[in-house]
Amino acid sequence: MHLPAEPSERLSGGPSLSNRPIIFVVEDEEDIARLISHNLQAAGFEVQSFVSGASVLTEAVRELPSLFLLDVMLPGTDGFELCRQIRQTPALSAIPIIFLTAKTSEADRVKGLELGGDDYITKPFSPRELVARIRTVLRGLGHPSSGTEVLRFGDLEIDISSMTVQVAGHNVLTTVREFRLLEYLASHRGRVLTRDQLLDAVWKETPFVTPRSIDVYIRRLREKIEPDPRHPQYLKTLRGIGYRFEVPR
Ligand code: CA
Repeated sequence: MHLPAEPSERLSGGPSLSNRPIIFVVEDEEDIARLISHNLQAAGFEVQSFVSGASVLTEAVRELPSLFLLDVMLPGTDGFELCRQIRQTPALSAIPIIFLTAKTSEADRVKGLELGGDDYITKPFSPRELVARIRTVLRGLGHPSSGTEVLRFGDLEIDISSMTVQVAGHNVLTTVREFRLLEYLASHRGRVLTRDQLLDAVWKETPFVTPRSIDVYIRRLREKIEPDPRHPQYLKTLRGIGYRFEVPR
């Protein structure tokens, strides 16, 4: 189904004609949206701005942006709900999401992470910082491993080249960070990894992620890959130390 974007919703944009990475910006405060748009374009990105979430998904499926920058407080569908919808849309589920918000509480950060956000920028922010954070998240997509390695453990299959996960033959949708965390743990199976080691490996340049965030990601991964998330067979907790990927017998 293709719904036309309402013209009033669009501040800039049009069909993509270049190979520059497209950033979808959803921000209802027009002066901030203009500031972001100006700076991202100057930094070499193409920008499509939306003042509400209404037509974002439809447009995103058509344009496949490189990244979403979502304000949390939006009229109608808020940024968190939009994130949830993006993560549930197969064509969009692996596209990185950065939240942009005045809210700074730990609870909101954790919520953003739980919903699949990759980073979180609080207002006011400097345009330079914004561009740097976007570049960092986009760089995180460049995959360190090459080749066509597939890791198989019982019903679990982790395909490193295509960044896909299957459980008992069914595709499981993961975000880029979830995938990289799972891949890292599985590649170091049998070894105990501390939260700090996992942070270094998967979130190197993302300053807002705390060791506590690792627990959020592990919980989400368990819900996706474990037959019984409360009694995990792959992702084991070592109380007070960290996590270990175990190969079930
Ligand atoms: Ca807002």
